Amino acid sequence: MFCPNCGKEYQEKINFCSQCGTAMFSPARRVKKLTLSEKNKKIGGVCGGFAEYLDLDPTLVRVAWVMGALVGG
Ligand SMILES: [Zn+2]
Repeated sequence: MFCPNCGKEYQEKINFCSQCGTAMFSPARRVKKLTLSEKNKKIGGVCGGFAEYLDLDPTLVRVAWVMGALVGG
């Protein structure tokens, strides 16, 4: 196997490149990043991004967001 970052070749299976420290194993689960949604930009994309991150209905998140804004001031 080769290090995807520096290209160093390894004969055995390793987890990290000893030369540059790049992770060599493939992640078991897909890491979700909390990013602004490209699809839901109704309120700056924040709520939509949150909804996608939490796998929730964007409308529900918007309502919760507004409620939180009203209660929290
Ligand atoms: Zn490397």
